[in-house]
Amino acid sequence: MSRIVMKFGGTSVADLARIRYSARHIKREVDAGHQIAVVVSAMAGTTNQLIEWCNEASSLHDAREYDAVVSTGEQVSAGLLAIILQDMGISARSFSGWQVPIKTSNVHGAARIEGIESSLVDARLNEHQVCVVTGFQGVSENNRITTLGRGGSDTSAVALAAAVKADRCDIYTDVDGVYTTDPRIAPKARRLSRISFEEMLEMASLGAKVLQTRSVELAMAKGVRLVVRSSFADPDAPQIASDGSNFGVPGTLVCDEDEILEKQIVSGVTLVKAEAKITLRSVKDRPGVAAAVFGALADEQIIVDMIVQNVSDDGRQTDITFTVPDGEFDKAMAAITLDEERFEYDSIAGAKGSAKISVIGVGMRSHAGVAASMFKALSEEGINIQLITTSEIKTSVLIDERYAELAVRALHTYYGLDRDEE
Ligand code: ADP
Ligand code: ASP
Ligand code: MG
Repeated sequence: MSRIVMKFGGTSVADLARIRYSARHIKREVDAGHQIAVVVSAMAGTTNQLIEWCNEASSLHDAREYDAVVSTGEQVSAGLLAIILQDMGISARSFSGWQVPIKTSNVHGAARIEGIESSLVDARLNEHQVCVVTGFQGVSENNRITTLGRGGSDTSAVALAAAVKADRCDIYTDVDGVYTTDPRIAPKARRLSRISFEEMLEMASLGAKVLQTRSVELAMAKGVRLVVRSSFADPDAPQIASDGSNFGVPGTLVCDEDEILEKQIVSGVTLVKAEAKITLRSVKDRPGVAAAVFGALADEQIIVDMIVQNVSDDGRQTDITFTVPDGEFDKAMAAITLDEERFEYDSIAGAKGSAKISVIGVGMRSHAGVAASMFKALSEEGINIQLITTSEIKTSVLIDERYAELAVRALHTYYGLDRDEE
């Protein structure tokens, strides 16, 4: 007998028919004698609708009330799933985040899970009752409902798996695993049967939304075995081994690097669109200037992504370029132009509409030339590179958004990641 946390995303609970289908996956595991906790997202599209309503009600709404509204989507799907499971003769009940309780920080809209008191869920699991828990939310020490940020149900699932000491956390979604790139962009993308935590962390933070970044971070820290698989697959097909290692059905195991035998130099390509680029020209080259510029942006809660500062020719002046999401562009420009003298630059230029493309792979640590071949592949497509940043296991470039998909497909082919034609 194992303890398994099964998470179902929005498309897997999109309507009653889909909830019933997902429930058959749960029934299979229950029938096999496992103890099951389930984490659900809101029905597909619901969270977007709830956010729209908050924005329409007031553009400057209270973040605590925003959370009260957007957290309701998960409550509906959790209750419906519990009803459907009961209808199938399975003992089940729903839990909202606060009922577990899942305790979080009080940063509304982007709260972090601080702890889960799992004794209630534990007791129900021991009685073989299926506990259906709402993803994406918790409760703060002020007793207010909080939400974890978009895609946060993945993190709820991993946190719950760690808290109840589950043997495995299965993330059921609309793709049958983690692919070398988004299969919607590159039809030749290949499913990875295993991926290391580190690579998955980079993939997620660089745009692969199949798992929320924080969920991967948490799984890595807590040693949770994470499997990504499809809820659309036949629930009655042969299943995977309890440690996730032996796939009878497609899926991806996220695991430690040393559990992966076949190592690729590059494992994946990711894409983030709608990046805005801002350049400050002839900034005074002395201590404190960058701190002032980025401090002003931080004060406005603007998350800066890439930052490049040029070497100064004369030791007096330099250029700084950075990127922010398109949606933050106006706010960022306002923060920097408000007090020009304080930042001591000559001119400022900026534009929306760039995309960040990244190639990721642990093999980069030991192989030279990965970045060089990336630049070559892009130049062969006539794509100009605006900015470059690297870390130990990734290289990212900023390019014109219009060529984003072309770049992803070209790099995917260039690094030999394309699936063999059947
Ligand atoms: P859910 O609602 O189940 O949480 P998401 O929409 O958040 O599902 O994530 C699944 C989607 O992630 C897929 O439909 C796919 O288009 C996208 N995706 C992006 N990059 C990847 C990748 N490298 N591998 C698999 N899916 C990816
Ligand atoms: N429903 C939330 C969202 O759409 C959380 C999730 O699905 O993971 O972002
Ligand atoms: Mg998701």
